[in-house]
Amino acid sequence: MAITGLSYIAGQWLGNQEGKTFQSFCPGTNEQLPTTFYDATDAQLEQAAAAAQTAFKPYRNSSYQQRAEFLNTIAEEIMNLGDTLIETTMQETNLPRQRLEGERMRTVAQLRAFATALEQNLAPLNLSYVDDADANRTPMPKPRTELTYLPVGVVAVFGASNFPYAFSTLGGDTAAALAAGCPVIVKTHNAHPATSELMTQAIDSAIKKCDMPMGVFSMLQAKAYSISHQLVAHPVVKAVGFTGSFNVANALIETINTREEPIPFYGELGSINPQLIFKNKATQDGKTLAQQLVASMLMGNGQFCTSPGVWFVPSEQTEFEQAAIDAVKAAGSDTLLTPGILKSFISAIAGFEGSEGVTRLAKGQLDKPYHADAHLYACDVDTFLANDHLQEEVFGPCALIVRYDSDASLAKVVDALAGQLSASVHGTAQELTAQAGIISDLHYKVGRIALGQMPTGVEVCASMNHGGPFPSSTDVRSTSVGLQAMTRFLRPLCIQS
Ligand code: NAP
Repeated sequence: MAITGLSYIAGQWLGNQEGKTFQSFCPGTNEQLPTTFYDATDAQLEQAAAAAQTAFKPYRNSSYQQRAEFLNTIAEEIMNLGDTLIETTMQETNLPRQRLEGERMRTVAQLRAFATALEQNLAPLNLSYVDDADANRTPMPKPRTELTYLPVGVVAVFGASNFPYAFSTLGGDTAAALAAGCPVIVKTHNAHPATSELMTQAIDSAIKKCDMPMGVFSMLQAKAYSISHQLVAHPVVKAVGFTGSFNVANALIETINTREEPIPFYGELGSINPQLIFKNKATQDGKTLAQQLVASMLMGNGQFCTSPGVWFVPSEQTEFEQAAIDAVKAAGSDTLLTPGILKSFISAIAGFEGSEGVTRLAKGQLDKPYHADAHLYACDVDTFLANDHLQEEVFGPCALIVRYDSDASLAKVVDALAGQLSASVHGTAQELTAQAGIISDLHYKVGRIALGQMPTGVEVCASMNHGGPFPSSTDVRSTSVGLQAMTRFLRPLCIQS
């Protein structure tokens, strides 16, 4: 399982020894790793695109059973990578073993869930619809019409740094596209290139074992961003699945807008995942709730798209605030996934420190200069409403308490919220009923609402929705997690007879 640093183009491992290269990085030691990776060339992208286009016909014609076998084999091959996979990713991401083993399980479960749906003829997706003919209808007979779905074609996938398995090379987007019958070209994330290569070894074995067309999957390693833009601009690509930041999504959308043929861009981005806390709940369970929120905010060192970034708390909840302060002060620091993410975190913290009306309540213990320590800030509703930056995601261990003094001011902030992946509501049973109006308004701001639960942890199941109104995602109608994710890569066809 040696790491070659090469890209995988339709069954061949290719690199350009004379071209650009980059090294992988170990955030745990803040040092470059010795492995060299080779930037994929324009010619290799063309080769991947041509092979994917050629593979589309035989792959889309494969039976659901064959595709299910393929997905199950990929899952099996991921498990066969064994501890090498976990150890490689630990080194590249500094994420702990237990978290990575859990994420691997989730990734494998995701592939198997799509396989099961295919074996069930996609029944769980409720896609088919038939209108019977009526020859006697007047004034005109009615034809039989049947709604069916076809794969859209080649899909480009971009993974995020913080989920090296579940939202990366063989993550949800790739699994959904392959299940739908679409060949995939992945642009790997530089934060875990060796992990991406191992994952590609797994799919390479599965392609061979299942006798799938070689062009059904290609993987491009590259440090230069030009290849990402060339990929989304390529005429062969018919849809893009992207997980990452708002700014990068915007840059890719700009390129897509220059295409002759428009294509859908499914960007799963970030959000502040507001926490609405009602008064009686804060008074009764303030301490426990504050500790749970800090623990949720610290998960993955704050590097979760569902991290609870802003908490709306009634004024004068001293026990709640004190418990949150104590928990943050006790938090040890850790590295972030990349030096770039650390730089953005430091700049976001500087933004809080310089914001009028925002006070720092607590700070964790910084162990090393390249670590990020937890931060907790507070402000009032007027300050929050006056400063748009306070609605921006801080990727790292940081949260903002927004103190409100009346239901009317809470309703006002909910109204002013931008689109979110998720939100939570914490109230007593009575409060959940009495505040139904505010909660119902919150529905229109989010893709998922958690009642009395933390926002972190996204279940992989048919009823999941992981997306949300802009700017948390670029298409409010779709999800990147769960079986429905597949419908992003299908398009309707009506057959009339
Ligand atoms: P990122 O910096 O946006 O990177 C995403 C991808 O875009 C990577 O492949 C990256 O390549 C590429 N890229 C970076 N700059 C680019 C540019 N200028 N032009 C073209 N491509 C470019 O995001 P990240 O650091 O991986 O992840 C953090 C973000 O993802 C957070 O906002 C987080 O909330 C979000 N996220 C969302 C979800 C979700 O499900 N909604 C899940 C996880 C994470 P390189 O590898 O070369 O940098």
